[in-house]
Amino acid sequence: MAKRNYYEVLGVSESSSLDEIKKAYRKVAVANHPDRNPGNKEAEDRFKEATEAYDVLSDSEKRQRYDRFGFAGVDSSGGGRASSGFDFSHIFREFGDIFGSESIFESFTGGRSSRGGDIQRELRLDFVVAVFGGSQEIRYQRLITCRTCKGTCSMPGYSTKTCRTCAGSGQVRQNSGFFSIATVCPTCRGDGVELERACNACAGRGSEEQTRKLRITIPKGVESGKTIVLAEEGNQIGNNAAGDLYLVVRVSQHKYFFRKGYDLYSVIAISVTQAVLGSEVTVDALDGETMRLKVPAGTYQGKVLRVRSKGVPTASFANNRGNWYITIQIRLPKKLSKQAQQHWQELSKLPEYNETIESIPLSDLE
Ligand SMILES: [Zn+2]
Ligand SMILES: [Zn+2]
Repeated sequence: MAKRNYYEVLGVSESSSLDEIKKAYRKVAVANHPDRNPGNKEAEDRFKEATEAYDVLSDSEKRQRYDRFGFAGVDSSGGGRASSGFDFSHIFREFGDIFGSESIFESFTGGRSSRGGDIQRELRLDFVVAVFGGSQEIRYQRLITCRTCKGTCSMPGYSTKTCRTCAGSGQVRQNSGFFSIATVCPTCRGDGVELERACNACAGRGSEEQTRKLRITIPKGVESGKTIVLAEEGNQIGNNAAGDLYLVVRVSQHKYFFRKGYDLYSVIAISVTQAVLGSEVTVDALDGETMRLKVPAGTYQGKVLRVRSKGVPTASFANNRGNWYITIQIRLPKKLSKQAQQHWQELSKLPEYNETIESIPLSDLE
């Protein structure tokens, strides 16, 4: 079979942009994906042809060589069949949503072993639990080995024999062109055996659903986006070992505190006299401890007071904690009593309270 021009394969012009090439490849790849066209040799060839074309045309250097020298510029063997000159792994990263099938992924990238049973779930954590650690109960659905057939898929008491389609390998491998595509055997669905009678507890799937309840330990200091991995708490497909459970943490917001790394932040309001004269106020730390906080005389609106080692504990060092930063807001009285008004008026007669407002150099701002 003569090789078709790469531009023709993707149906784009020689002056097309990378974006156009990408779109065109996606279209061809989706239409001819082997999973959607099982047993269709023509579609499979189109798919491979398009993938090779995209590999070259999406790489500006390869594309340039191809434009100048044709296939010889991008294929070390010089002919139409490169044995190992193409690396498609970047295409799989880019188009992961098209390439759902593991078997195809393996045949492209050279055998990545996967247990396939991993599960990913979101884990919502209370702010305080995420800071100090603790334990939390989770419930989720997973697959476990069918207890009736022990994952064999065969009804107990009935015989099984080696699958004739795949000779027991579970895969049908088609070698053509420059790489081979392995697909799951359509007869035995990958088990390598033909059943006389399928297990009726699991309808021949080998697995059953389980509602799993687990109490898990939350490490202290955990943040949104972090993943907690629980080994072998994933799906147990047929009689394979169980995959892992990946819990992606999402921490809820707190009413009063927020956090940046290991430091905690909050805001308190004090009265204008507390700010002017200085005072000691009561504050509640995140861990529930009631503390006395010294507000120095002359504290201004927006001043940040630091409470050392009252932040988030670090996971690695037992007694290491970040700081707690408290921003001060000053509340002015909304309504003045007669008495208060008299006092303020007296204050306003004092020279230091009756200064003309002037511009403040930026360098004087704290
Ligand atoms: Zn079963
Ligand atoms: Zn088979």
